[in-house]
Amino acid sequence: MQQRLAAIRRNIEQACQKVGRDASEVTLLPVSKTFEDSKVLEAAALGLTRFGENRLPDIRKRCEHMPDQQFEWVMIGHAQSNKARDVARYVSELQSLDRESLAEALEKRLELEERTLDVLIQLKTAAEESKTGLEPADLVAFLQKLKAYPHLHVKGVMTMATQTDDEAEIRRCFSAARSAQQHALEAGYPVHRLSMGMSQDYVLAIEEGSTELRIGSALFGHRDYV
Ligand SMILES: *Cc1c(COP(=O)(O)O)cnc(C)c1O
Repeated sequence: MQQRLAAIRRNIEQACQKVGRDASEVTLLPVSKTFEDSKVLEAAALGLTRFGENRLPDIRKRCEHMPDQQFEWVMIGHAQSNKARDVARYVSELQSLDRESLAEALEKRLELEERTLDVLIQLKTAAEESKTGLEPADLVAFLQKLKAYPHLHVKGVMTMATQTDDEAEIRRCFSAARSAQQHALEAGYPVHRLSMGMSQDYVLAIEEGSTELRIGSALFGHRDYV
């Protein structure tokens, strides 16, 4: 894992150099979904303490199995509104906010738990019907609505590109998210973070302006299922 992490960091450096960016602008979110707790502890020994997961029951289990660890759990998968309590209790940040009904449910639970939650807005840029997210064109209007939910602190946007070998299509997805983000920044919303890029496409994501890579298999090893 140490070698894989070093290779990822080298690739990040190189991709940044190629487009004249500073590597410190790009952070890494290790995605531990489906991997054993022992892998998380191995990553922790390398200095990683913030992990992405895509199912709330898994985040809950991690917290129960490793209660003494000061890990931060980032929810990157689709969240159902009836699971807002688990988000408020176990999640340090939600990168998949895509609808007002979820914001409303979260606001209520966060108020009860007396905490705030950092969120990214998930934009749908991929071609697959199965991918969820807000339409990029609706971002500014959605941010306006979110002003009614003060326990949610919007920090940026997130997207997943189409799963394909077609580089132009992947770039189109990333670029659509970046344009929507820029538009929202110009409208005065502080959405500075841009979470995009996974094991297969993170170099392209850096070239397209990503500030946060969500990397699972390239760090933890082969995953049998999603
Ligand atoms: C699984 C997942 C990732 C990481 O995928 P890898 O291909 O293993 O790097 C990133 N983002 C989301 C939303 C995911 O579900």
